[in-house]
Amino acid sequence: ARPDSPAAIRTTCPYCGVGCGVIARPDGQGAVRITGDKDHPANAGRLCSKGSALGETLALDDRLLAPRIGGQDTDWDTALQTVADRFRAVIDTHGPDAVAFYVSGQLLTEDYYVANKLMKGFIGSGNIDTNSRLCMASSVAGHRRAFGTDTVPGLYDDFELADTVVLVGSNLAWCHPVLYQRLAAAKAARPDMTVITVDPRRTATSDLADLHLSIRPGGDVALFNALLVAIADQGAMDADFIAEHVDGFPEALRAARADDVTASGLTAAEIAQFCALWIRSDTVVTLYSQGVNQSSSGTDKVNAILNCHLATGRIGHPGMGPFSITGQPNAMGGREVGGLANMLACHLDIENAQHRAAVQTFWNAPVIAGQPGLKAVEMFKAVGDGRIKAIWILHTNPVVTLPDADAVRAALAGCDFVVVSDVTGRTDTARLAHVLLPATGWGEKDGTVTNSERCISRQRAFLPAPGQARADWAMLAEVGQRMGHAQAFDYAAPAEIFREYAALSGVAGGLGLDFDISGLADCSDADYDALEPFRWPLNGTRSGGRFFGDGRFFTPSGKGRMLPLTSRAPAAVPSADFPLVLNTGRVRDQWHTMTRTAKASRLNAHMAEPYLEIHPQDAQALGLEPATLARVRSPVGQAILRVLVSDKVQPGQVFAPMHWTGETASAGRIDALVAGVTDPVSGQPESKAAICQAEPFKA
Ligand code: SF4
Repeated sequence: ARPDSPAAIRTTCPYCGVGCGVIARPDGQGAVRITGDKDHPANAGRLCSKGSALGETLALDDRLLAPRIGGQDTDWDTALQTVADRFRAVIDTHGPDAVAFYVSGQLLTEDYYVANKLMKGFIGSGNIDTNSRLCMASSVAGHRRAFGTDTVPGLYDDFELADTVVLVGSNLAWCHPVLYQRLAAAKAARPDMTVITVDPRRTATSDLADLHLSIRPGGDVALFNALLVAIADQGAMDADFIAEHVDGFPEALRAARADDVTASGLTAAEIAQFCALWIRSDTVVTLYSQGVNQSSSGTDKVNAILNCHLATGRIGHPGMGPFSITGQPNAMGGREVGGLANMLACHLDIENAQHRAAVQTFWNAPVIAGQPGLKAVEMFKAVGDGRIKAIWILHTNPVVTLPDADAVRAALAGCDFVVVSDVTGRTDTARLAHVLLPATGWGEKDGTVTNSERCISRQRAFLPAPGQARADWAMLAEVGQRMGHAQAFDYAAPAEIFREYAALSGVAGGLGLDFDISGLADCSDADYDALEPFRWPLNGTRSGGRFFGDGRFFTPSGKGRMLPLTSRAPAAVPSADFPLVLNTGRVRDQWHTMTRTAKASRLNAHMAEPYLEIHPQDAQALGLEPATLARVRSPVGQAILRVLVSDKVQPGQVFAPMHWTGETASAGRIDALVAGVTDPVSGQPESKAAICQAEPFKA
């Protein structure tokens, strides 16, 4: 049983990128009562099924309580010295690029900061990447191409203020439920509001839509190119805004005119209706998520959307703008703090010599990574072929969630040295670790997270650390010290790390970048403890608000950039052997690989098993009866899934959730079927358009 605290603690939900405020009240009997925080700007007291069940997920039965080496419990001194010595030995023999960190959007910003500093400034490699690469790397790349920085222009309030909200590749009702609740409430209050969903399948979100477009997988660039042409032909562009604040309009329009609009898979009438609705609304928000990002043309899809907002000047004002909604609780924090292999901290650019020098000077670091490191999919290929000989994986389960998951499992099984820090030792990835480090989890650790609208909130501890569990920043800092960098990693508390991070952001702000929270560089421990949710930037001159309404962007010219784009089909082409297109995604009541949500029985009741959603025509043709089992094969793997016959998917397409795991093929480890194909710009895998075949499963 856990000791209890009598206080009500304000903290932040550890699941999706909405970033809802939560009040946790330990009840004195070992249970914790969870309610929504009415004062948090993201949710104003609302919670979804996952957030409200958080109190049911705090049992300690599967927790990792002591460090382990080779499956045997050990002490921290031995474990951390082993990690430091083994990493040092690999670096000395094979160079800094022979080691890697694979981190997670579950980490708090302070954890992320220390990991990034250790790898890029003191080991001297760019080989730190995050599972957020699977979630929103295409948005980062698209933002940087169009705006010069990875800046989300708008706010959640804009969904409620817009006359038209377009959701592209987003099942908001299941994946970001509180934002969906806000949108549904706004539409109920203003029935004139138009909601459009663009998705290959009809979902719970399309039930709210006035118009649903069953786009062909990969057809988004064609659709938004068609919209750009309609904007131009109907005189709906903002000529003054373009003249003063946008580069690339003629080239983008020329490419859009040349694109093949039939690649969208939509009829001319559907496209015309979509364009008319979008163009007639001065206030329009185009919200997009994994259906856009998880694609071999994900970055182009993002820029096709941004093009239309730049051409109309519909950006950075109330009720208008493109809006990337992130998957994880701290995906945004990871983007800001340098968790991606191709970024430095505070949106500083690893490929910019001035930026590298500024960070190295600030850290007083002996080295600085001179080039981007390996992105997630490439990182594990490098583990597989021996280029990476030691890897530390923090709070993520790549054996289940990375594409080509069987190859990832084989790569880790053959790696010389695998360290895993996590709350449990029972994940598929943790089972392959040479050293297992017990980490504190939600409710036990302190730090900050950033949600999808740039709002930084505190996660606060309200429970003691179980067993010998430690915060990730503390493990990383101690390894940094044991590798010979005592002063640089001499942190006593997350507040110290946050102050250093805020000070570094002032350096970025001084170089003209967007991410600047230097107003908090001198905050006291008490200020940090009491920190209220706030949207960045926060410095001496600016606090929160929208970006780009003033027409000032962060490119060298100061203008927004439109890009010439041509649609590309997904990499895998259906064939006689693999005739179905496989779309993977989430279900409403589970989170990632279920290490937390599966503890709550009411969450398991929603969808009890991994399943294959298939159109009635295909099910009949393949002899798949409803509720029976199907064996699903792809060129790289297989899984066994329960058959769910539904006309919400189109003929020739199937959907399967990504949460389930298992040691054998008789399970729903769906990323074993997804090939490791990535977007050439962002490195994000194509998780929405694999190819497969399905047949009745006979045990
Ligand atoms: Fe948590 Fe997301 Fe649900 Fe909010 S919407 S309670 S952040 S899972």
